[in-house]
Amino acid sequence: METTAQPFTEDPRQIVQYNVIRAADRLGLDSEMKTLLNMPYREVRVEIPLRMDNGSLRVFVGYRVQHSGVRGPAKGGIRYHPATDLNEVQPLAAAMTWKTALVNIPFGGAKGGISVNPRELSTTELQRLTRGYIRRIHLLLGPYRDIPAPDMNTNAQVMTWIFDEYSAHHGYTPACVTGKPVELGGSLGREAATGRGVFLTTQALMNDLCLPIAGARVAIQGFGNVGSFAARFFAEAGAKVIAVADVAGGIFNEHGLNLRALLDHTRTAGSVTGFAGGTNISNEELLTLDCDVLIPAALECVLNKRNAHQVRARIVAEAANLPTTPEADEILNARGVHVLPDVLTNAGGVTVSYFEWAQNLQQVFWEEDHVNAEMQKILLRAYRQVAEMAALAKISLREAAYTVAVERVARAERLRGT
Ligand code: NAD
Repeated sequence: METTAQPFTEDPRQIVQYNVIRAADRLGLDSEMKTLLNMPYREVRVEIPLRMDNGSLRVFVGYRVQHSGVRGPAKGGIRYHPATDLNEVQPLAAAMTWKTALVNIPFGGAKGGISVNPRELSTTELQRLTRGYIRRIHLLLGPYRDIPAPDMNTNAQVMTWIFDEYSAHHGYTPACVTGKPVELGGSLGREAATGRGVFLTTQALMNDLCLPIAGARVAIQGFGNVGSFAARFFAEAGAKVIAVADVAGGIFNEHGLNLRALLDHTRTAGSVTGFAGGTNISNEELLTLDCDVLIPAALECVLNKRNAHQVRARIVAEAANLPTTPEADEILNARGVHVLPDVLTNAGGVTVSYFEWAQNLQQVFWEEDHVNAEMQKILLRAYRQVAEMAALAKISLREAAYTVAVERVARAERLRGT
């Protein structure tokens, strides 16, 4: 385990370690604590046999990594993607630890997933796969142990199967998973929460920089849950969403895309590409568009040493987890691009997941306005703390965010007597 910061990497594992070590150095933590903070608590790999609709058998591989439970039960999403493996899940689990610590909610960090392309499976196959995965790992989960949530290619339906399968083994337990449909104990406001948080934190930064939202040009990579809700909130505030992209490619309109029409097109066509209200662009072109706010809302490491010099946005708001390599971070900082770090920008989702968990445990239901107001309070408090530390210490917003988070977790480790 490295205990010195190595900036030159596109390995997501080393991205998180790099940021943690830099924060730990700033806090004067010793190398034993650095090792402890970077090592995951538990990593699990399971094989999941699946009887396909055509009668054949396929075996999929699933993962769950619990990075930390020192400040509360482990918490983090479940991703279905062909590239999912331990190398991907482990740093995403660690990032959850720093995110929950930064916004100061009583959780640790976890992440899981299955190496699968869900588009190749029928709905019934996907349900059996999800249930098979949960049967393999349910003993490690639970409301006070580890609570999954949606991530890339998983949604409220998948969370429902998780809730149902877990409850079949342990009795009715809605607090075992978040991101459920409202009818089954989900929280109002959860579906939009991550995109709303992306908007709120970016708006706070833009206010500090005296940049108006009205008329601001916004480009978004990823048009799933997070990217599409972020787009709607920016458009509602008067910004122009000039480009969006998904896995199949992107679409651009310098006057601003008609989001309602684009959402309709995406629903029927399955992709933003081919939308009549814009011209096609590639994902790489989108990342280097002349714009005010660039929002990576898809995958890790998309901003790296190869394209960071070409980024023309004034603000990069990291809606995806770990979209910027440390090397790109240095280039962007040196060029005066303001990078709003993922652990803050996309923390709205886990914050409302915390509310969902708390509502489930108490069997109470909050009004949507209350959910949104409480989330805003938590996110903006974290933003203010980070912005003030960054200004005072003359460090980046990311360094400040990790410093706050690492200090909280290190203190909890010491108090517990690790
Ligand atoms: P999603 O599955 O709903 O959408 C993902 C989007 O990314 C889709 O539009 C997809 O086409 C696109 N995409 C996938 N691969 C791509 C590629 N190679 N190039 C360009 N686009 C690609 O997922 P989501 O829930 O919106 O999550 C998006 C990101 O936000 C992920 O990094 C996730 O970890 C992060 N995140 C999600 C939440 C949440 O609450 N859903 C919370 C925090 C962070």
